[in-house]
Amino acid sequence: MGRMEHIDEDLTLYRDMLIRCLEREVLPHYDRWEKQGHMPREVWNMLGAAGMLGPDMPEEYGAAGAPFEVNLMILEETCRLGLAGLSTGLNVHANIVMPYVNNIGTPEQKAYWLPKMATGEVIGAIGMTEPGAGSDLAGMRTNAVRDGDEYVINGSKIFITNGLNAGLVVLAAKTDPSKGAKGISLFLVDTSLPGFKKGKGIEKIGQHTSDTAELFFDNLRVPASALLGEENKGFVYLMQELPRERVGVATQAVGACEGAMALTVDYVTQRKAFGQAVSQFQNTRFKMAELRAEIELVKAYLAQCTARCKAGVMSTEEASILKLTSTELQCKVTDTCLQLFGGYGYTQEYPISRFYLDARVQTIYAGTSEIMKEMIARGVLGR
Ligand SMILES: Cc1cc2nc3c(=O)[nH]c(=O)nc-3n(C[C@H](O)[C@H](O)[C@H](O)COP(=O)(O)OP(=O)(O)OC[C@H]3O[C@@H](n4cnc5c(N)ncnc54)[C@H](O)[C@@H]3O)c2cc1C
Repeated sequence: MGRMEHIDEDLTLYRDMLIRCLEREVLPHYDRWEKQGHMPREVWNMLGAAGMLGPDMPEEYGAAGAPFEVNLMILEETCRLGLAGLSTGLNVHANIVMPYVNNIGTPEQKAYWLPKMATGEVIGAIGMTEPGAGSDLAGMRTNAVRDGDEYVINGSKIFITNGLNAGLVVLAAKTDPSKGAKGISLFLVDTSLPGFKKGKGIEKIGQHTSDTAELFFDNLRVPASALLGEENKGFVYLMQELPRERVGVATQAVGACEGAMALTVDYVTQRKAFGQAVSQFQNTRFKMAELRAEIELVKAYLAQCTARCKAGVMSTEEASILKLTSTELQCKVTDTCLQLFGGYGYTQEYPISRFYLDARVQTIYAGTSEIMKEMIARGVLGR
């Protein structure tokens, strides 16, 4: 059997398992979780038990050593089913934090954190953004000062996905404030340490199930062994790992586009106006045709990028083109689809409204569309 057939088989197997587990444990409760603004902590343990947390991580750390595509499939399916809040938490935990630990960590760091993350005992978050430094990460103020065999960390982070539930935060802090981006280091911070404080959850307009928090560090002491990789190389690691994060976000975008299209096809074929189904109006047919065509193009580019990301040869420019086009398309698809629902699209009763609201942040986090354009422009025009 060829490698591709193996991957297809794995994908089918995992997809069936995932959908069964979501139908049983998540879908019946999801509306309630969205309304209350968070999901029960145990959902993570349930997903861990079902093998859905970092399936592509090595087997020696309690994961399945499955292909990268399986991890992406989980992000795509959760978004297709309208579970974007859950999906974003998963993207951060399993497609960002676990790979940071696995790719950059020492054998001891991996052996300590990865098995706990695979079961859901520990939830991962990544802390880069600060109130005064979002797009311009080099301006971060959180700092870590070496003191004997410890670092003392002071500062704060904002908009941290999984922040409230996190047991581990991959934290970016300045170890040499005089050097800008070249003075940033990454730390594996155990959130149970004294000096680590979590703010209240941030109330968002969408993705309510995903917890987003402010974090504060007040003379937080971490052992020197918590340094991830080498000192002052944090920015290099961030740049190295960002393409994968962006493939994850793009995969979520494609899943959401497919989910929104499916809901809309159902609705417009049933809804009648002027004595015919809404699907019969040329406007509806052309709009849906245009969206389908654009989705297929993004899917083809995503497939190409996934292969290049897996091979470790995907460039920042490619990742930026993918993130920009896929998330802007998601916003267009969900907006256009909502319009075809008429007034019902604007109600909470119809899930298309959730697709619309959940989409909006996709062009903002993991690098805004404007920053993506800057990255692409560097390739086109130089710096
Ligand atoms: C729900 C949610 C979850 C998030 N999760 C995380 C997380 O887990 N971890 C984390 O570290 N961060 C997270 N973020 C933060 C996110 O990555 C930042 O919000 C984002 O990078 C933008 O930074 P900012 O909000 O400070 O906006 P700013 O950087 O202040 O940008 C404001 C506006 O200026 C534009 N702009 C900035 N610079 C330029 C430029 N050079 N050229 C043109 N336009 C420019 C931006 O595109 C934007 O339109 C999350 C955010 C949200 C909303």
